[in-house]
Amino acid sequence: MITEEIVRERLKTVHYPGFSRNILSFGIVKGIMIQGNDVSVLISLATREPSIPQAIHRGIEEALQTLEGIGKITIDFDLKDPPSHTAAANPGSAQSSIPGVKKIIVVASGKGGVGKSTVAINLAVALQRTGAKVGLCDCDLYGPSVALMLGAEDEQPMATDQNEIIPIEAHGIKAISMGFLLTEDSPVIVRGPLATRYTQQFLRQCLWGDLDYLVLDLPPGTGDIQLTITQTVAVNGSVIVTTPQEVALIDARKAMSMFKKVNVPITGLVENMAWFECEHGTRYFIFGEGGGVAEAEKMGIPLLAQIPLDIPTRDGSDKGVPVASLDPATNRVSAAFADLAQKMIAAVER
Ligand code: ADP
Repeated sequence: MITEEIVRERLKTVHYPGFSRNILSFGIVKGIMIQGNDVSVLISLATREPSIPQAIHRGIEEALQTLEGIGKITIDFDLKDPPSHTAAANPGSAQSSIPGVKKIIVVASGKGGVGKSTVAINLAVALQRTGAKVGLCDCDLYGPSVALMLGAEDEQPMATDQNEIIPIEAHGIKAISMGFLLTEDSPVIVRGPLATRYTQQFLRQCLWGDLDYLVLDLPPGTGDIQLTITQTVAVNGSVIVTTPQEVALIDARKAMSMFKKVNVPITGLVENMAWFECEHGTRYFIFGEGGGVAEAEKMGIPLLAQIPLDIPTRDGSDKGVPVASLDPATNRVSAAFADLAQKMIAAVER
């Protein structure tokens, strides 16, 4: 006899396309009905990409077909527009689902260590220098570095009676990071659904006040948290950070393809650690030359900035003084971030 329990077990073997998690744990299975040997499944999905429901349909059929005695299989879809689509469809009234926040920019990378947080922080500071109100949310639960890079590792955000988190302020921007909520040696054991809930709470429970731009520093890679974020909020623009070397570019491609799947607008690529310039002005292409330029061309997206490998940039991050807070007239890296900020403003306000 076919029971709901048996069907559920089978549905656990069906993955959401492109992700390691199954469709049940994503919460998109809204109903299972069994009549005799006939089974119907209702899936609720926020996507504009037709290949996703098609792949899920195929996956469910394959998973259920092999059940002994199975009758008719009916799979219905309740399809909605994803949040980013809502924003794109109404450019005049682009609303994020975070109260008070006008535009959301995500900074992503395919792999860790390429300078994603460095770019996120400096972009936020450069946006603030244009006179905008800016927030920065470090969504990396497992390797938060924003607190340290802003020189705010000793600050504690306050919570209201309603359990809302009040971001701290540093360098003129509001910021919140898991780094603020964890002590140095507290184990980060949030995984799977708990990590998803934490992230949503993070996004929804912060009292940002009025912001022109909220920059989200995503964890590296293309996992559940990235999907949760892009399905929770309406993203207006995204930056993918890579170094010029092939191993980083391969992963950057994966990040881009994930964003395309979930309809996140890709504003462009930032090539970080593009070169090192010695005191005599000679450039050394430590991680290879032109990888970012070629990749942006291949993917048909703009190359928004090339940031050199630069000692003051690293030193500033370690000391909590982002390089973008220095005068762009006298610091070339700060000027590059100022230019990146202008390009992002132009793209998300378009
Ligand atoms: P990710 O967020 O991708 O893991 P981080 O932003 O934490 O990477 O950067 C990793 C390390 O590299 C940090 O120590 C950071 O200060 C350093 N770094 C990043 N970008 C640069 C750069 N352009 N020049 C020098 N050091 C950099």
